[in-house]
Amino acid sequence: MVSKIEDPLRCENCGAKAGMHARNLKSGVDRHFCSPACFDKIESQNTSDETHAFYQSGQAPGAIPNGNRVRKVVCESGDGHPIGSTGVVIGSVGPGYVPQLGREAYGYWIEWDENPGKGIPCFVGDHKIVQEGK
Ligand SMILES: [Zn+2]
Repeated sequence: MVSKIEDPLRCENCGAKAGMHARNLKSGVDRHFCSPACFDKIESQNTSDETHAFYQSGQAPGAIPNGNRVRKVVCESGDGHPIGSTGVVIGSVGPGYVPQLGREAYGYWIEWDENPGKGIPCFVGDHKIVQEGK
């Protein structure tokens, strides 16, 4: 007998497993897609001016697991969140070589606690965060 892990998140357009999510910044509601192409297909029929923030909910092997709390330790110009900001990991990618860092690195989608529109996923490199309590 083959046991199957149920994944309730399916692409709104094609029904494939959805690893990409578009959060409506007005309503805070997440919509689920397998790829940017599927999102574009659905959104091309949408005439509203609502904007979305994208994130991927996948968990990269060896990365800080989803749901863990992190703290920001590096801030670069243009960053929306200062050093000391705290938040929760909601997705990760990598590791991949990042020339600016000269090493393999992870990228994380974080939901920052003090985000004014709380719940907006924000993409950061692993050099900017540490796991809380570590
Ligand atoms: Zn799809």
